[in-house]
Amino acid sequence: MENISTRGGCAARPFSDTLLGGLAPDGGLFLPEAYPRVSAETLEQWRGLTYPELAFEIIRRFATDIPEADLRSLVDRTYTAEVFGSADITPVRELEPGLHVLGLSNGPTLAFKDLALQLLGNLFQYALARAGEELNILGATSGDTGSAAEYAMRGKQGIRVFMLSPHGRMSAFQRAQMYSLEDPNIFNIAIESMFDDCQNIVKAVSGDADFKRRHRIGTVNSINWSRLMAQVVYYFKGYFAVTRSNREQVSFAVPSGNFGNICAGHVARMMGLPVRRLILATNENDVLDEFFRTGVYAPRSTQRTHATSSPSMDISRASNFERFVFDLVGRDPAVVKGLWAKVEAGGAFDLAGTPHFARIPEFGFVSGSSTHADRLATIRRVWRDHGVEIDPHTADGIKVGLEFREPGVPLVCLETALPIKFEETILEALGRKPACPEAFRGIADRPQRVTVMAADVEKVKAFIEAHA
Ligand SMILES: *Cc1c(COP(=O)(O)O)cnc(C)c1O
Repeated sequence: MENISTRGGCAARPFSDTLLGGLAPDGGLFLPEAYPRVSAETLEQWRGLTYPELAFEIIRRFATDIPEADLRSLVDRTYTAEVFGSADITPVRELEPGLHVLGLSNGPTLAFKDLALQLLGNLFQYALARAGEELNILGATSGDTGSAAEYAMRGKQGIRVFMLSPHGRMSAFQRAQMYSLEDPNIFNIAIESMFDDCQNIVKAVSGDADFKRRHRIGTVNSINWSRLMAQVVYYFKGYFAVTRSNREQVSFAVPSGNFGNICAGHVARMMGLPVRRLILATNENDVLDEFFRTGVYAPRSTQRTHATSSPSMDISRASNFERFVFDLVGRDPAVVKGLWAKVEAGGAFDLAGTPHFARIPEFGFVSGSSTHADRLATIRRVWRDHGVEIDPHTADGIKVGLEFREPGVPLVCLETALPIKFEETILEALGRKPACPEAFRGIADRPQRVTVMAADVEKVKAFIEAHA
């Protein structure tokens, strides 16, 4: 299976050639030239598989240039009960008949991003060793992505991580999680400014082609195709967990920001998983909800992005959305190029009244948004009615999911983080702090290792030069 770009400007290339990179050279996003179709017979065989077995079956259809024995061992080492807390990896909890929460947050950093990044850590190490190369990952984080990347890359041969975070602006738990890592290949740099400046520094360093080449600088951003591919697996797992036969349909509710998670659901559906609806939930930053309701995609400036109590969904543009639009417009790269020319010029596009927009129902998408008050009410309601603590992002998903729930169709709400990561909002909703998993007791008291630095591109470069 080769990967192609959504903008059609570069030749198809094998999976492994797109593994370590970000954007395609033509500015588009990589995705497979076709989605492998899963027959009814195969789906039946998959029903009884364990998580790693299922992951192997799905991933081998995309990563066709990795020898199967190697892939099997990579997947087996990634999805273990030791790393994800149970052999189920993504356990399902029934709140009431027909209403389920798919637990995606039992990995090392307690958010769903671990499910993809833990695999990426092993895939990167494997690919670098095979090519005899090294990689210095430079990233910026305001919370979840940075810690998931660090926990995925810690101790990996040939990989170093330089992670910029805004000094004093993450939660105490997030800081403790990242800064207490002692692995010599992990470097935390706290920038004395906001998240945007961290991101600008990453852009400036990556934009220096000579420096980038000399120091083999790479990223683990949300547009990486293999991240998305790894996430396809838990849609299948969740489907099997709540159904008895493959004649049943299921709807998924997905708290969304960069459109990575729900795009994996879209891929699963295109492969033939019997998904009825993909219910997209946003917070007050509702660019995506606006698109699915009106046909207008109007990314916003950072100034117009709200800081909300589901902060991991505070986005102004959805970096993976281009992949879905590529499929929506019949995989015509010329159309995608035209639409994103508008976006990149600081504008918007409007598909209302076009045949493209009329096809949205064929893809199963519906959407809604929630506010801080909705979030608190949902956290309270789920605790009161079901005795289950949920985090603010998961609450956004459940709130919108319930609005689109249909009788006779199981609704699976994706749990994207554990409540302990967002203590303040839980305290506000329930009047007490959330339960802390055993492994994280006392984490705030562990010694922390971080270099505080001014928001200065040259200082960051000098640091990388000294440590890479
Ligand atoms: C990243 C993240 C999201 C958003 O996921 P996307 O793939 O960007 O849509 C939602 N909730 C949590 C907790 C996250 O960390």
